[in-house]
Amino acid sequence: MNLEGYSLLSILKEIERGSINAEDVNDFYYKKSLQLNDKINAYITLLKPDDKKINGNLKGIALAIKDNISTKGIKTTCASKMLESYVPPYDATAVSKLKEQGGRILGKTNMDEFAMGSSGENSAFGPTRNPLNNDYVTGGSSSGSAAAVAANMAPISLGSDTGGSVRAPASFTGIVGFKPSYGAVSRYGLIAYANSLEVIGILGKYTKDVKFLFKLIAGKDPLDSTSLNVELNEKEQFKPKILVIKSFVELSKDEVKKEFYRSISKIDEEGFEVKFIDSFSLTEYLLSAYYTIACAEASTNLSRYDGIRYGPKVESTGNWRDYITKARSFFGPEVKARIMMGTFILSAGYYETYYLRALQLRKLIRQEFEKIVRGYDALYIPTMPVLPWRIGEAIEDPKMAYASDVLTVLPNLTGSPALSLPVGRIREFFVGGQLIGLRGDDIKVLKIAEMMEEILKVKNDGRN
Ligand code: GLN
Repeated sequence: MNLEGYSLLSILKEIERGSINAEDVNDFYYKKSLQLNDKINAYITLLKPDDKKINGNLKGIALAIKDNISTKGIKTTCASKMLESYVPPYDATAVSKLKEQGGRILGKTNMDEFAMGSSGENSAFGPTRNPLNNDYVTGGSSSGSAAAVAANMAPISLGSDTGGSVRAPASFTGIVGFKPSYGAVSRYGLIAYANSLEVIGILGKYTKDVKFLFKLIAGKDPLDSTSLNVELNEKEQFKPKILVIKSFVELSKDEVKKEFYRSISKIDEEGFEVKFIDSFSLTEYLLSAYYTIACAEASTNLSRYDGIRYGPKVESTGNWRDYITKARSFFGPEVKARIMMGTFILSAGYYETYYLRALQLRKLIRQEFEKIVRGYDALYIPTMPVLPWRIGEAIEDPKMAYASDVLTVLPNLTGSPALSLPVGRIREFFVGGQLIGLRGDDIKVLKIAEMMEEILKVKNDGRN
């Protein structure tokens, strides 16, 4: 059986009709993964699905899960030596919901260590390689979740998005990546990097698959007090009103810009109402507000890896400084750098200068975003200002990777739903377009993406 190019929904339909069964489907993706994983490095842990019959919406289909989402009895490493042998005693709520609906786990995917990165190169287990060209990065931090879908190593996957980690790799591999509104999916069991910014998201080849899975995992969870119910009902067909901020598009490389503008002319021809404004006045503060808050939260969240509560045990020599140096040495260089930055930002002398100011900026950014976007169905800008770079380039120049987040951090600061879909092609790569809505408008954003997909017909259906 060859399922390349199949959507999850069409697979489920075929199972229902009795023309295929879940075991064959799981076998296809498992074999493909065995065959390709040495090259792509999408999975840290790959599991052979058993063939017990399961009912429910997902009919026993196995999915890929990012390795920072807790899975009971299955190693969850965050792509870090610190958690190399950690096996969670419980499932994340998103995972238990998938299981309740008849889903299985095909494997745990590679990522930037503790979700810190934009390229998938910061994993302690080696970089993920882009299925479109193996010498190039996949985008991160949910690099394995994107590569697995793009290379037919999974029908669909879960990732997490703190500042673009679902959308960046979706854009770099030519698939769909959806970051729900903050709180729309429970964070219970998602190993924390920066709690106030992140959410579990979904990566798939087709928007309809992503929407289907989103509805299965969304909703208020008593185990996460920040979770909420967003509207899941769909409106009738409507004519989307889209806003484009020109200065955001201008931040992109020329070839990206050209493909992006071409996609605008097409949706405009097909009846979308497209309005342009010149700029977003707080653009220059987006990255600094994001990285200040993210590093501050990371430094407190990661203090639990001390060899006592979490992390490999180390021998104590009776000297605290020696002990803590050894216990914390399991972190990779990017994680260490961010813990140090975060600790500095939160220190007594600098808290007000950096942390409080970043929180104030986030508030202003939210207010301006809401003022500008209210009255429209979504904002439409490129996802990444650049195309994938060669593996190794961002390790030499980490600031380049930070800068590539300039268009993805906004919805994390505002708590908005945001989706990246392929809207253009350049050589073997794709250009991702990003739709951003007001918080709670998740289904509206997904609906507009479906309409755009239909019009633009730019698809990485994974046929190779
Ligand atoms: N690239 C951003 C960072 O490194 C976003 C990562 C993410 O969304 N997890 O923080």
